[in-house]
Amino acid sequence: MEVYELELVKPFKCLASDCPDTCCYGWQIALDDETAERHRSEKGLYGRHLRFLLKNTDPPTLRRIFGACPYFNSDRLCQFQQNGREELMPRVCRQFPRHSVKMGDIVETTILLSCPVSARLLVDNPGRLSYIRLSDEEAREVEPFWIIENDDIPFRDFLLRERDKLLDILWSEEDRRPLPEVFAAFYAYVHRQHDPLMQDDREGMEQVEFSWDKRVQGKYAVDGVPSYAFYKIKTLDRMILNHIDYGYIQIREPRLYYFVKRYMKLFSGMTVDGADKYFDDEMKKLVLTHPEYELRYRSYFSYLIMQLYPGAFENYFMLRQMLFAFLYVELLQLFDLLEYLEKGKTADPERMAEIIMILEKGVRHNPTQTDNLLQVIREELL
Ligand code: SF4
Repeated sequence: MEVYELELVKPFKCLASDCPDTCCYGWQIALDDETAERHRSEKGLYGRHLRFLLKNTDPPTLRRIFGACPYFNSDRLCQFQQNGREELMPRVCRQFPRHSVKMGDIVETTILLSCPVSARLLVDNPGRLSYIRLSDEEAREVEPFWIIENDDIPFRDFLLRERDKLLDILWSEEDRRPLPEVFAAFYAYVHRQHDPLMQDDREGMEQVEFSWDKRVQGKYAVDGVPSYAFYKIKTLDRMILNHIDYGYIQIREPRLYYFVKRYMKLFSGMTVDGADKYFDDEMKKLVLTHPEYELRYRSYFSYLIMQLYPGAFENYFMLRQMLFAFLYVELLQLFDLLEYLEKGKTADPERMAEIIMILEKGVRHNPTQTDNLLQVIREELL
């Protein structure tokens, strides 16, 4: 087994009771089968208590108390951890924010950014990240959280090769293109591969060559001049107002609601085309005057490709993975822009990390949101 770890995993250190956030607040905590079994078989009064708080859903989940995990105590610590009963912690909590995915005989551990420490690590380490191979001894400690059951190893290897190729293009020193151009070219490239793949024409898929040239991209080329509004504001509007702004968001996710409110204030009253042009113009100004923002989006996009692209090993939808990466980058750009226009200055690294964390926690790692956003992507782009 080859086990790799994103270079941000090692320096991560949980703030525990000093954390300004609570990683379990607002989440539906699901238990893996082994931990659920330990809860079910615990003896005595404590066992009864555990079983009372365990819901027999599929997968089993913990009953929440005032929106929080019932084992999150008044010292802002996990009760299981404090009592030395870590074997009763759901696997997701034992590992968070680390996230290990097993694809055949390869395991990759990455770090989720819905935690202030990991989001700050990304902000403080902009650039291309790499995976580091762990020693056999270190590898034994890794417990994969998500096992992709697929024996199609040639396809996995194709995805991992492609991922490296896309990252080489993204970070090229000689020919570094602005992100709107990168999105348009990546979209055309992956779409050109996607179609033969869907017809099980592997050879056709492998033969597609990357090109910046619209004539080569043919019918897959994006119309017009590449813009920061890869997703039209009309589409983002559907996503934000119908799905991200779900019921009680102002209570459940007030920090996300802050951006929804500012979005409504800024864009309401604009025409559909006017909104796209305004967003593109303002983003161009922002990255021109503050190039650190350009690096921020390139780094986040790079991180997303590293994490999302191999996910296609499960369902073969590379295009979907790529479209999600574009979407999260565009939402980050939108949130940054709203903040910049509101405050009239750039964010400091702490706030930059917080904005990423809000996006990841409230949108990217919310499974219901992901399903709803996918529905919009399907209707408008696929
Ligand atoms: S959010 Fe991150 S730093 Fe805070 S308690 Fe959870 S894992 Fe630790």
